[in-house]
Amino acid sequence: MRLLMMLSLSTLLACSGSEPAAPAAPAAPAAPAAPVAPPASGLVTLTAAGVAFDPAADKDQIPDGAWYCDMGTAHFAASEKNDGTCPLCGMELVHKGAH
Ligand SMILES: [Zn+2]
Repeated sequence: MRLLMMLSLSTLLACSGSEPAAPAAPAAPAAPAAPVAPPASGLVTLTAAGVAFDPAADKDQIPDGAWYCDMGTAHFAASEKNDGTCPLCGMELVHKGAH
């Protein structure tokens, strides 16, 4: 006489009601991210919100059409005018290439 062990399959349903991931809050472009070092040569890469440079980039490295803070060098530049002032020092941004 054989005893068949009937193993009841427990319903291992994955809990679909797990904690919802916190929605990624859209980063406000109010302040630029941590300063980046400009490339040794060539144009810097800008974002609409702007990029802070440490050490400051050479003005020649700012792409035409970009907005930057002119302090002899450029410690901030953006591809968009935004509010037209440097978020680092409050100076008016200069439109590169607009003379
Ligand atoms: Zn500035």
